[in-house]
Amino acid sequence: MTAFQPPTPPAGPPAGVCARCRRCCTLAPGEEGLVFPLSQEDVARLDQAHGHARWREQSPNSSELLDMLAKLFPRSPAGLARAFPPGDSHWRLAVRADGRCFFLGGQGCQLTAEQRPAHCRLFPVWRLGNHILPLRVECLAIAEAKDMRGLMKSLDLDVALVKELFARIQRAWGLEEERDT
Ligand code: SF4
Ligand code: SF4
Repeated sequence: MTAFQPPTPPAGPPAGVCARCRRCCTLAPGEEGLVFPLSQEDVARLDQAHGHARWREQSPNSSELLDMLAKLFPRSPAGLARAFPPGDSHWRLAVRADGRCFFLGGQGCQLTAEQRPAHCRLFPVWRLGNHILPLRVECLAIAEAKDMRGLMKSLDLDVALVKELFARIQRAWGLEEERDT
């Protein structure tokens, strides 16, 4: 488990445990500013798939958001400062009035795995150096899994995919990529 407790980046595959849970795809009031930022690649892919922009919103680069990102990427303070300058803004997933992500339906996420933002596919699994580990968050998949292998399986993840998705996020924001040592 991680030593830190980030706020709620939205995420989660549509089937199985996530369809029963949906917790990280639904925000409490006031959490909108902490929705994980989208990369330009995410925006372009989802614009192409959906042909409209109601699914995304601009959000300020708040100090609260930067604090969260600093915990998630502790080795990249300079890169984060470049990618999310104070006073500027970023795209994030739109949230409905009741706190649900725009793409959350009755059976969970309505996006295919390939369409989903990289951070949604990863959550609640993260990478710190050589370690792949669960974030310290409330998550039914974590609660039900016997071990890390079971958690990854329930989320349709494997080590190679976790590394690829994580690297995709780092590349999108110009952060120094983690290397296997
Ligand atoms: S099981 Fe975990 S990853 Fe899936 S929806 Fe719930 S909190 Fe999100
Ligand atoms: S895009 Fe899908 S997985 Fe991501 S927060 Fe929205 S509903 Fe959840």
